[in-house]
Amino acid sequence: MDQPRTIALQGEWVVAFDGHDHRIIRDGAVAYRGDRIVAVGPASEIVADEVIPGRRKLVIPGLISLHAHLRLNEGYRMVLDGGRRDFMRAGFINYAGRKEGGGPAFLDPGDPLVALRFCMATHLLSGVTTILEMDAGAPDGGESCAALAAECGLRMYYAPNFTGADYRLGPKGEARLVWDEGAGLAGLDRALAFAARHDGAAEGRIRPILVLNEFFASTPRLRAATREAATRHGLRITTHFCEQLYEFHETLRQTGLTPALLLKQEGFLGPDVILGHALYVAGHSMAAYPYAGDLEAIAEAGSHIAHCPVAYARRGVAFEGMKRFRDAGINIGLGTDAFPTDIISEMRMAALAGKLVERNHEDPSAADAFRAGTLGGARALGRDDLGRLAPGARADIVVVDFDNLTIGPVLDPIRALVYSATGDMVERVVVDGITRVADKRLLPWNQEALLCEAVASADRVWGGFAAHHWSGRAVDQVFPPAFAAWDGR
Ligand SMILES: [Zn+2]
Repeated sequence: MDQPRTIALQGEWVVAFDGHDHRIIRDGAVAYRGDRIVAVGPASEIVADEVIPGRRKLVIPGLISLHAHLRLNEGYRMVLDGGRRDFMRAGFINYAGRKEGGGPAFLDPGDPLVALRFCMATHLLSGVTTILEMDAGAPDGGESCAALAAECGLRMYYAPNFTGADYRLGPKGEARLVWDEGAGLAGLDRALAFAARHDGAAEGRIRPILVLNEFFASTPRLRAATREAATRHGLRITTHFCEQLYEFHETLRQTGLTPALLLKQEGFLGPDVILGHALYVAGHSMAAYPYAGDLEAIAEAGSHIAHCPVAYARRGVAFEGMKRFRDAGINIGLGTDAFPTDIISEMRMAALAGKLVERNHEDPSAADAFRAGTLGGARALGRDDLGRLAPGARADIVVVDFDNLTIGPVLDPIRALVYSATGDMVERVVVDGITRVADKRLLPWNQEALLCEAVASADRVWGGFAAHHWSGRAVDQVFPPAFAAWDGR
């Protein structure tokens, strides 16, 4: 067998890891052989079989989305600027539940395989090399999700999610949880079977994680079983946590404890737990509960936060923790959540919304946001070989093209990236030493065909909305367009 060649990617700026934090090498290069980085340093000192020049290129580690939904997000695209007020800004309840008494599910007319491929493609194209997938991954028990991730080369943490309850919408659209603990426990068993089948698949790029869909839709028994299984099998856990205001208040009303303190009391939290969102915790300005305890509990357990700032901003709320959680010692990673799948825009929103929350122009900084999308995500996943460019780390490398007028003059490349760049400036993406995006084109799949298929699939979902929705009304009646349609006058 041939020895793998050493390839060096040069950059006018290379973000290298010094063992503690990122540093910038001006006119640098990163060299990799096989699936590992072998050298990072000044370009003049890096020897390689093949050198790819990098004038006005920024070379960064592959980015990590710690919370993503690999779907076309038809529902999320629908509820923009709208949705029912009685759901307290929650978006998904507007469409996720079936009608009471049955009927089709919202996504039934769509093509789940197209959704998976589309969303994996858009993540890779925007520089995400590792993704934590929160969804069910198509109706075949996650098999196609794993197969497609292997095909396109994305590194993925995943097992099909499970829940103790589903939403149903009554005749006036009122939302109700229908509990089925047995179904949740059976889902956990299926996730464990998936984990056993797929751990280390695709040359190690696919790793299992237990996705308890929503803390609020789980029972103490389901949480205990999840915790016990995670410990027994050495798996991580993630769950949607305190994403909704009603979740915080209902838990408080029913148990006398905040969700964080309830999970602490149950022994659920730990350094292997990634809390998706953690928006409405004690001390959040909208929670009307200004008492201490939640951050301390999360910090003491060593649990991590998956922060998805663009999604929150669209619902008129902010994570009030970029500084506060960090100061408490809590690790924060970034997630792309729904759409657009542009983790560079998530970095920008993390920094900007964080500054607005703090009324502080200094903190959080571009460095805080960049760390969250790289080292923070890696730490949450327990990986010291991801989110960094250093010898021995995985060859997950992204080249961002700064040779454009939008970026313009560069004084500081990380601030240029966070405050001026977008995901479509990503030019090259290497995962595990294999190039998956080159010249801003996705190599594994045909982008144009994928877009056509995605549009057709989403149109079918929106076209079937009236049959799904409790009101029987069409999508543009329930969610009016930004401007009225042209009527010819
Ligand atoms: Zn989510």
